[in-house]
Amino acid sequence: MEKAHGVVWDLDDLYRGADDPSLAHDIESLIGLAQEFQGKYYGKITAPDCSADLLLQALQDYEKLVESAYRPYAMANLLFTGDGRSDKYKALVAKVQDALTRFGNETLFFALELQKIPDESLQNFVATGKLEPYRHYLESLRLFTPYTLSEPEEKVVNRKTLTGKTAFVNLYDEFTATFEWQLEIAGETKTLTQSELRELHRSPDAALRKKAKTAHDGRYGEHALIFSNIFGNLIKDHANEMEARGYESPIQPTHLKNKAPTEVVQTMMDVTSANNSLVQRYCRLKARMLDLPKLRGSDLYAPVAKSEHKISFEEGRALVLESFAGFSPEFGAIIQRVFDENWIDAEVRPGKRGGAFCYSVAPSLHPYVLVNYVDNLDSVYTMAHELGHALHTVLASESQSLLTFHAPLILAETASVFGEMLLTRKLLSEDPNRETRIRILSSKLEDFFGTISRQTMYTRFELDAHQEGGQRRLSADEFCNLWLKRRDELYGDSVDFLDEEKWFWSVIPHFIHTRFYCYAYTFGALFVLALYNQFEQEGSAFVPKYRDLLAAGDSDWPAKQIEKVGLDFQQESFWQGGFQVIERMLDELEGLV
Ligand SMILES: [Zn+2]
Repeated sequence: MEKAHGVVWDLDDLYRGADDPSLAHDIESLIGLAQEFQGKYYGKITAPDCSADLLLQALQDYEKLVESAYRPYAMANLLFTGDGRSDKYKALVAKVQDALTRFGNETLFFALELQKIPDESLQNFVATGKLEPYRHYLESLRLFTPYTLSEPEEKVVNRKTLTGKTAFVNLYDEFTATFEWQLEIAGETKTLTQSELRELHRSPDAALRKKAKTAHDGRYGEHALIFSNIFGNLIKDHANEMEARGYESPIQPTHLKNKAPTEVVQTMMDVTSANNSLVQRYCRLKARMLDLPKLRGSDLYAPVAKSEHKISFEEGRALVLESFAGFSPEFGAIIQRVFDENWIDAEVRPGKRGGAFCYSVAPSLHPYVLVNYVDNLDSVYTMAHELGHALHTVLASESQSLLTFHAPLILAETASVFGEMLLTRKLLSEDPNRETRIRILSSKLEDFFGTISRQTMYTRFELDAHQEGGQRRLSADEFCNLWLKRRDELYGDSVDFLDEEKWFWSVIPHFIHTRFYCYAYTFGALFVLALYNQFEQEGSAFVPKYRDLLAAGDSDWPAKQIEKVGLDFQQESFWQGGFQVIERMLDELEGLV
């Protein structure tokens, strides 16, 4: 089949479509359920007679309550990502968001009370052993205690968020979903979606790549006023909130949420930037592989093989399945279910969100995977990545509950990137001829440079933007200048960029959706390289340790989870080790070329 035609997810596990009466019912009953919960527990958690049993019951009730909110929220969002042009879905998303905000306000007291339980009482409760499944959840929630406002203040923040931050995020999504491009290809004018246009960034035709890249980034430039407004407002909004809460830096809440020590992230980013020369070395090698004097920005994703052979969805599916099954039959069986039970939406169609994601709602529900499969090797890698996430969710769902099944952000990309390594292993073992090796090695290196070096550059830009934009309103040109400074640090003089590429900061949705998310990719990829090294040394003895790591979800500090597999992320060598693996791959590729 072409472009996974007909491979669409089945949302019936959630609801029977947008008009399912039980969807409307669930949204409407949310507030009542929250009020009931409030009536039962308000003031009880911090009361002197609170007991371990009461606290346990409250946590379990809270999980049930939150799940009843997540279901309609997931349905609305999945429908909307499936077709961003539908007014009906837009209205549904707005309705759910509104209900969820009111729901959040009714239940807000609970987290605040959990934060205010006196240390001594909590230690006594934990000592009973009854709260063990929630011990880490409580510990990490209490990291935020010094930065939490009073209940009425938190409620106002929540309500204002809907027409503040959330409104800007929605505007960004709805606006970019309307983007279409008219492009002349081989004498014929074609209308292209974002995914289809981005596919042309990987075309073997250099002129077409340049045309597509110019059109793509140029479109964002045409609307620079809107994008600099959206981004600038989100930055200012965050700065105001940081000040009110007493955070020391814009990235501090992300570190706390990730449970990533600031110094560890700093070391990781410094080691990464110190290895920028590897990226530049690769770009010069790639220019040679493409027979170009120098790489242009539009050539970064050009295929190195003369003709990239198509990989149908069926072939891609088989490759991914076998990669996981070859590591562990249990993993293979879980991936098989994703396809058999229609947890995945893979076809390309107008209005569908570009890119890819895996959405995990609750441990009682399976994950939902979205990809835009376009019959090439990259699509297969994207699928391996997202299915790695799905595997992670399924394993964590078995042993964790709603509050602890989502891996902390810095470990969230573990199974996904490891899944890509398993695919690489499978591909290299199958067809070791020179052409194929070149293709796979360069594709893998580009991937690592994309997830490690480029995401660190994104994070450095984002830090600069928050630093400057927190103080004063930045113009679109100022955003461009901050962008160019960090981009040029990464690539040096190894690439000639197109003028339109200065707008690329407005293309990256993470800056809008999930502030400072990008370093989690760097963390994930370098951590996976360390894990993969371990797997190569230990063989099958490694499999159960890795499985336990995934099943642990968010039940302990990342440092401890990493220690359990025998690694220490405090050390500079832990991070540098990843670059040694990369350098070996680069050496091999240079030899082959
Ligand atoms: Zn991912």
